[in-house]
Amino acid sequence: MRKGNLIIISGPSGAGKGTLVAELTTRVPSIWVSVSATTRAPRPGEVDGENYVFLTPGEFERRVQAGEFLEWASVHGNRYGTLRSTVEAKIAEGRQVILEIDPQGAAQVKALMPEAVLIFILAPSMAELERRIRGRGAETDEQVAVRLETAVRELELVGTYDYVVENDDVLRATNELADILESLGG
Ligand code: 5GP
Repeated sequence: MRKGNLIIISGPSGAGKGTLVAELTTRVPSIWVSVSATTRAPRPGEVDGENYVFLTPGEFERRVQAGEFLEWASVHGNRYGTLRSTVEAKIAEGRQVILEIDPQGAAQVKALMPEAVLIFILAPSMAELERRIRGRGAETDEQVAVRLETAVRELELVGTYDYVVENDDVLRATNELADILESLGG
């Protein structure tokens, strides 16, 4: 695998990773974004197989045991994981593959595939992060608090990433991401 074929994007819930990645795919059509599996319940509007592959805890565990995950982690009380098969196939095709995963998963993939490039997305401030999570309206107060606590822990790992992009403005941050991808050569 060449450097730049596997790009991992992490960052706290509410930093806007999903929005930036969606914007990036319209700009750089050759990239392929992995669809993770999760035990979390779908949010309104989320489609199985498109946003995530939604699994019961039992089915997730079966796939862990079967070695189907490249990496997996527990995040905010649910399990999330990258299914190995499609990711490896897309890398073999030479596509630029994007994994939107948490720092625990990022460390697992980096250990397996040292050529992976790690990008961390930051919100401008914790207050703005909280505003964005609440604005999504998908979580209870308790779930918002859990996500903010996780954010503090994740921010401590920012130094292990190759690039840090502040999502102060979607277009500006997408431009920065597109420049990073271009510089890697794909
Ligand atoms: P959400 O529930 O908001 O969709 O995602 C919560 C967190 O799970 C995000 O920080 C996201 O990066 C992480 N996540 C999503 N998919 C995966 C995955 O496949 N593996 C790991 N390790 N984390 C994931």
